[in-house]
Amino acid sequence: MDKLGEIYGSNVFNDKIMRERLPKATYKALKNTINERTPLDSAVANVVANAMKDWAIEKGATHFTHWFQPLTGITAEKHDAFISPTDDGGVILEFSGKELIKGEPDASSFPSGGLRATFEARGYTAWDCTSPAFIKDKTLCIPTAFCSYNGEALDKKTPLLRSMESISNEAMRVLRALGNTTARKVITTVGGEQEYFIVDKKLYDKRKDLILTGRTLFGAMAPKGQEMDDHYFGTIKERIAKYMAEVDLELWKLGVSAKTEHNEVAPGQHELAPIFATTNIATDHNQLVMEIMKKVALRHDLVCLLHEKPFAGVNGSGKHNNWSMATDDGQNLLEPGKEPEKNKQFLLFLSAVIEAVDEYPELLRESAANPGNDHRLGANEAPPAIISMFLGEQLTEILKQIEIGGKDKVKGITNMSIGVSTLPILFKDATDRNRTSPFAFTGNKFEFRMPPSSGSIAGPNFIINTMVADVLRNYADRLEKAENVDEEVNTIIADVVKNHGKIIFNGNGYSDAWVEEAKRRGLPNIKTTVEAIEALNAEKNKALMERHHVLSREEMEARYEISLENYSKTINIEALTAMEIVKKQILPASIKFSTKIAESINAINATGLGIDISAQGNLLKEVSNLISSIDAKVKILEESVIKAEKMDDSYNQAHSYRFDVFENMNSLREDVDSLEMIVDEDIWPLPSYTELLFNI
Ligand code: ADP
Ligand code: MG
Repeated sequence: MDKLGEIYGSNVFNDKIMRERLPKATYKALKNTINERTPLDSAVANVVANAMKDWAIEKGATHFTHWFQPLTGITAEKHDAFISPTDDGGVILEFSGKELIKGEPDASSFPSGGLRATFEARGYTAWDCTSPAFIKDKTLCIPTAFCSYNGEALDKKTPLLRSMESISNEAMRVLRALGNTTARKVITTVGGEQEYFIVDKKLYDKRKDLILTGRTLFGAMAPKGQEMDDHYFGTIKERIAKYMAEVDLELWKLGVSAKTEHNEVAPGQHELAPIFATTNIATDHNQLVMEIMKKVALRHDLVCLLHEKPFAGVNGSGKHNNWSMATDDGQNLLEPGKEPEKNKQFLLFLSAVIEAVDEYPELLRESAANPGNDHRLGANEAPPAIISMFLGEQLTEILKQIEIGGKDKVKGITNMSIGVSTLPILFKDATDRNRTSPFAFTGNKFEFRMPPSSGSIAGPNFIINTMVADVLRNYADRLEKAENVDEEVNTIIADVVKNHGKIIFNGNGYSDAWVEEAKRRGLPNIKTTVEAIEALNAEKNKALMERHHVLSREEMEARYEISLENYSKTINIEALTAMEIVKKQILPASIKFSTKIAESINAINATGLGIDISAQGNLLKEVSNLISSIDAKVKILEESVIKAEKMDDSYNQAHSYRFDVFENMNSLREDVDSLEMIVDEDIWPLPSYTELLFNI
């Protein structure tokens, strides 16, 4: 085997290692738990824990941790050493099944949205054996779910695992009704493409806004942006190439299949795409991708920015969530095959996704909402805030034909086969052209392009899984009762086209005409996170989540509170940072600059030569006017922050941060950016966009 083959997955307690190191019976029992969700025996857990520990220690690990994903959106870990003191003053290395299965982190400082009173600090982490353990920084990391003392989900993983179970159950009912006898479960597959920016660490260190908020709060546009289209897929600069190579290597060790690395549209922007995996593993892997990208950047004196909009005026970053459903015997349920028009199973599952997206657009929109993404979605940037679905002409046509076929039958035609033989074979590439759609069918999967670059993909995926599961449940109910399954399938598809066809849009999603058209179709256009969060509180959505045991009402309400709080806190930090930068850096520097001009005017006048100093005079006036406007705007911003901070109701507070504080920040920024354009660059205290975007 070549070297890469040895490196790949070398830090993962994967199936191969398990087979090598576990007694046959233990391996079988564990696989049963992973595949069939049978409860795990404590004796089995002890044997697995011991094997894991021996393997980890051989690899140089000294600690273990339950690795979990609280609602902060990042991962958390608390390290414990393997050591256990002995009576004779020595030490043995231990790791029990109990420690593997369950942890009790002090949970009081993670967001719970009122689910866990702070005095009841106990939270539990529970081993998720469906995602393999791995070694990172000499620590054995055990992927876990995190819940409260009463079992309420306090993390991103729990609802995801629950939603995977639900969609598997409902999809299996549909498959069985269609006569499939080989599949035993359905998994959802996900490939998360990660966009990011890279900046030089020395420049980053000079910008408090980047350090504290992840984005530039000020910054005049560089003379050159992305208009030349010369960065997308351009040659990768050597420094970046070295960085990417190391990121790949670190990820490969962790069994993350980083596959494609390329430059993105904006200068300084790049993308990493892994090969798709089961949703749960893909989600864990995306967390690792983000962590490793940040960590490795520092080794190269670079900083990786995961914020959705680090720079105004150039593209922001998202995460493209490629999603499909597959059976355990390897069939992609969204693979159209050579003759999609005859592939009823495909058309039925496709219809389920169409119906789900049309039925729950607000919830889907919410799953992509975070403060940073407000700068992308609906803010003159891709994709728009309106949820619509791109199918491509061929599939749209096939579905339309089926709808007509339904009508024909009413007219007495008995032949119900879907005969659209005039259509060409659907080639994978033929559908992957529209890049302006937020939810696009790309050949054999859907690509949800809205999710935020810094967020966990657990949210979007548990929402997609659950809403599709719900639609499949209705289909299963219908098919199980139907006398003629074939006919019922056609009727379902025709119903979907008729009732949910409005979600399908194959045109340019960035155009103003689409905004108007979407309004006519009655599709929601939710522009801000604060408004999007309301979806978590809507009765229809709470009922959906409850029906599938993905989130209880209380858990939904907690998430509603946490999301609002998170929004308010984020904007609060941004506003405080903006004020500090203005007061301590921008104003002093600008005053220094204006003094310099004034001194120059005096000095020239003193020569008595009658030299024209109108240019200097105008510049001084311009600078002074901006200084006084900025001074006034900082005071307005300050007052709005004080007002927002005092609010009790979390919705009103977030609303105030968005429509008052945030707007004041933008207004302040306009003046600061104008000032940057005229102040001496040796005096201006912040590295410019030109430096940040092009000096790598
Ligand atoms: P592009 O989007 O550039 O056309 P691909 O279609 O090859 O590239 O894949 C983009 C991402 O989608 C990759 O992460 C890939 O692994 C993932 N992907 C491909 N097939 C599936 C699938 N069936 N389910 C989920 N993700 C998939
Ligand atoms: Mg793609």
